[in-house]
Amino acid sequence: MQLPIAFAERMQRLLGEEYSAFCAALEQPKAVALRCNPTLLSPEALATALGVELTPVGYEPYGYFANLAPSGKHPLHHAGAFYMQDPSAMLTVASVEVPQGGMVLDLCAAPGGKTTQLAAHMQGKGVLVANEIDLGRAKILLGNVERMGIANALVTSLAPSAVADTFGAAFDLVVVDAPCSGEGMFRKNPQAVALWNPGNVALCQSRGRQILDCAMRCVRQGGKLVYSTCTFAPEENEQAVQYMLDSGDFCQISTKEGVQKATAEGVGQPLSRRLYPHLGAGEGHFVAVLERVTPTPAPPKPKLPSPLTSAERKLVQSFAKENLTHLDLDSVWRIGENLFYLPNPCAVPQFALLTYGVKLGSVQKGRFVPHHMFFKCLADRFLHHTHLSLEDARTAAYLHGDTIEVSHPSGYGVVEVMGCPLGGVKATDYQGKNHYPKGLRND
Ligand code: SAM
Repeated sequence: MQLPIAFAERMQRLLGEEYSAFCAALEQPKAVALRCNPTLLSPEALATALGVELTPVGYEPYGYFANLAPSGKHPLHHAGAFYMQDPSAMLTVASVEVPQGGMVLDLCAAPGGKTTQLAAHMQGKGVLVANEIDLGRAKILLGNVERMGIANALVTSLAPSAVADTFGAAFDLVVVDAPCSGEGMFRKNPQAVALWNPGNVALCQSRGRQILDCAMRCVRQGGKLVYSTCTFAPEENEQAVQYMLDSGDFCQISTKEGVQKATAEGVGQPLSRRLYPHLGAGEGHFVAVLERVTPTPAPPKPKLPSPLTSAERKLVQSFAKENLTHLDLDSVWRIGENLFYLPNPCAVPQFALLTYGVKLGSVQKGRFVPHHMFFKCLADRFLHHTHLSLEDARTAAYLHGDTIEVSHPSGYGVVEVMGCPLGGVKATDYQGKNHYPKGLRND
């Protein structure tokens, strides 16, 4: 691989005699890895179903190397049973104890690798705010949150300053996986080599600082901030950590032991961790964990969403009576035209909110119409389930958008493959009208 001269010179200075091993690693094929969704399938069942060999990544309990990459069209991918993710990208979340029951923010979240990993560790408890500034990418993030069946996330598309203004220092954990110069991705994405230049490193450094200024405002006293990049430039890595330490509000703490073992020390900063492709499988990565040591102003009094009107309550109640085991109506909120389910309500951003917990649906022409996310994220609340195997022809037919024969005579129900929810149907006479969104269907 032809490396940019200024980059090669800097890496030679950083790595010394390891530099040739680094260059040799860039010629090797990239690692394939995935995270299984612990709420859906065991890794053993997933490996058998996908016909792949899975070997533990080690530092991430749900992370596995795979000997080949399964297709994104595989029914179990539609079902959210796994998420393809570079093993080094799993380091960020694996570096820190993820609180269960608290408030967690993923500030630069699309397409959702860290968000879905955080959600797996949160086990449905607490609230996860997944924010992505770019609306197009935020929609992809929402798609992954929905696919993986995550019920306790807000997905927003705000500038970091708007996130800080809305929530204040409300978070126990803030993850900043910063937009960076991408030097660690040269092997995976050769285009990144062509785009590299020192000016871009400087630009990423200054943009990173602006993002960190906002991220730091979001961490409560005693809360943690995890900072990561997929680049090697010290300006975007150790110098960004130093920038936060210079605020006087944070101290740096160790990453979790497994991550320490799998990584090398940062440049002049032993608590920061670097992954080089010649030292571990996966692309280049940097991670550091900080803790807020100073008090923060009380978060702004959250503006909560509106509860349902009595007419809406009646409609949802009657839908629940016909189709669900139970639904706590006091956890259902109306925001704009849509109804959402979130048991622990928190501040509602006034704009650019893509979901507030589970998007249940909307009232149309006096009827409650359920949304795809309802079937995906609250599948266990539905009374009726049609259980399919991978081999059953109805699995492919359902993902194609066809009407299929289902196990219940009438009403709404969930279609599942190997027990993992794919989406919804509305049955009439055991014929399930397909509710799988058009944009997600297989050809
Ligand atoms: N955390 C993601 C994951 O694991 O899938 C990857 C995040 S990617 C490294 C960085 C993200 O930061 C991109 O989605 C990009 O759109 C976003 N970004 C770009 N400029 C930004 C800015 N000025 N403020 C906040 N986010 C920005």
